[in-house]
Amino acid sequence: MKLLQMTKLMAALSPEQTAFLKKQEIPPSKVFDASGLPRADYSQTMRELELIIAFGVTPCGKAGHTLRTSAGHCAQCNTQAIAFIKRTYDEGDIYVARSDRAKLVKVGVASDAKKRMDWLNEYRYGEAEDWILVYSRRVPKAGRIEFLIHSDLVQHAKPCPYTKFGKQVWCKETYSCSSSVAVRAVNRRADETVTKDQSLPKERNRRVKRL
Ligand SMILES: [Zn+2]
Repeated sequence: MKLLQMTKLMAALSPEQTAFLKKQEIPPSKVFDASGLPRADYSQTMRELELIIAFGVTPCGKAGHTLRTSAGHCAQCNTQAIAFIKRTYDEGDIYVARSDRAKLVKVGVASDAKKRMDWLNEYRYGEAEDWILVYSRRVPKAGRIEFLIHSDLVQHAKPCPYTKFGKQVWCKETYSCSSSVAVRAVNRRADETVTKDQSLPKERNRRVKRL
């Protein structure tokens, strides 16, 4: 499944676009196929799904680029917009959520992990509405840590469907492992990153629920 999705994504993007995303350090899991969706719709969906770049959008007026940010700006003409999104996304809670109904664990980044749970349930992420917050930790470079954790947990990856505006999207940040495996991965990568950069403000930890 994962490999097929990756192959499909590569086919949808030109080699130039793939190189651009690589240079900007945007993983395929943060890229959204916005084909057929008006801006307001893909904008909302992307924000909800914590995605960074859309493809399948109308070409930009300046150079005909077809990669846009969730706000609808041309990503290639406005690399500072990407830097801005990444910065926002870097100052946050890295969290582990669990749905018993979907039998899935999700790892993500949010400015407020608790509020994020309300959203996951309201919008039936993974077609479930029993998402609970298992663990969250405020970290510097949250986006980078999340990226590393997703590669650590790749053998447990289990994409789940999400339907919005009549379009089915596969969320790629869900796993079929126990929440304790995910929490360990979070702490391992977070400790590593915090130790590497002592100049950053002290992290704030909170364990929401005993495992
Ligand atoms: Zn452009």
